[in-house]
Amino acid sequence: MRFIADFHLHSKYSRATSPRSDLENLDKWARIKGIKVLGTGDFTHPEWFKSLKEKLEPAEPGLFKLRAGGANTRFLLTSEISCIYSKKGRVRKIHIVVFAPSLKVVEKINARLSLIGNLKADGRPILGLDAKELLKIVLDVSQDCLVAPSHIWTPWFSLFGSRSGFDSIEECFEDYSKHIFTGETGLSSDPAMNWRLSALDKVSLISNSDAHSPEKIGREANVFDVEFSYPAIIEAIKSKNPEKFLYTIEFFPQEGKYHYDGHRDCKISLSPSQTKKYNGICPVCGKSLTVGVLSRVEELADRPEGFKPEGAIPYKSLIPLGEIIAEALGVGVNTKEVKKQYENLIKGFGSEFEVLLNVSQQELQNITLPEIAEGIVRVRQGKVFIEPGYDGVYGKVRIFSKGEQRELSKQRTLF
Ligand SMILES: [Zn+2]
Ligand SMILES: [Zn+2]
Ligand SMILES: [Zn+2]
Repeated sequence: MRFIADFHLHSKYSRATSPRSDLENLDKWARIKGIKVLGTGDFTHPEWFKSLKEKLEPAEPGLFKLRAGGANTRFLLTSEISCIYSKKGRVRKIHIVVFAPSLKVVEKINARLSLIGNLKADGRPILGLDAKELLKIVLDVSQDCLVAPSHIWTPWFSLFGSRSGFDSIEECFEDYSKHIFTGETGLSSDPAMNWRLSALDKVSLISNSDAHSPEKIGREANVFDVEFSYPAIIEAIKSKNPEKFLYTIEFFPQEGKYHYDGHRDCKISLSPSQTKKYNGICPVCGKSLTVGVLSRVEELADRPEGFKPEGAIPYKSLIPLGEIIAEALGVGVNTKEVKKQYENLIKGFGSEFEVLLNVSQQELQNITLPEIAEGIVRVRQGKVFIEPGYDGVYGKVRIFSKGEQRELSKQRTLF
């Protein structure tokens, strides 16, 4: 069966998340987005884990569904842990997503981790634990768990982060590196950027939303064609078999918050070559720049831009539908007009991913404005302009040149 999965997100028990991030809303938004398998996130949090046990019931092996309300979303047990520790004289801050096959396994992982730090303080707990030790603990509880370093390029909290991480998987996980089968590209990098490191050929690249509110799930996702079960999904990720793990859905990486280098407060955004020219020093404040994902990839890459390794899982770059509509209408994304057009499209075609990926321009035009239909098709074709994000500022998307939307809607009234 072919389906879309998003494994990494956060519940209302994580810091800076929406109070609406509960199982009912996640289930509802998964249907609106067209996501069939959704990570639970935050299984280490006692309150969230309690609601997982109360509100979910087993469906297929390792997958769960809401007890109430005939829901068809499947939940898969995941949680993110922030490991903060010192290694070789440097402070390391690395986020790791753990996948677990059963509630029993989660119970055991939580029991072990609660001896190390406070799991109640945050849905994404901070532990003073070496990432390698975390991997050991999790695999010791169950070999069926999967451990995936999160958003591997972001500067402050990741495996390869310029301010927090390592230069290789081996430097971080040592003799346990052979148990690292996958890594998350994160919003600020796409697979093409990761393909430039031969060291990553052995892992598969997964993509998740890391959503902090239900409406943001599926910003990035994974498309599978396997039997509906935890073991089948894990096997597809581990084996990197392109007949089972079909493709990933990506942000345009420029849209991510850490694509370029810069300083948010100084309003300075620089490309890797510009950063080199300034020797990594901010021309406004004189402090060192926050080096983003593109520069960091350049630093570690051993292949030229555009290289595609054999057997790589392909990807498609998309922009969330709400943003496309906002751009087509020339209004803010959280406006009534955008909501109205969004709901109309979901009602017409079933889900956001169906609209973004599959519906033809003609069909779109039958129920929505021509400038929205045109926007959706341009995104599919990659015809977008993006001002790159930097130092925590999201990139800005443009699909139309100035005044072009009005021209498109004028043409409609002529016909
Ligand atoms: Zn994270
Ligand atoms: Zn996260
Ligand atoms: Zn500065």
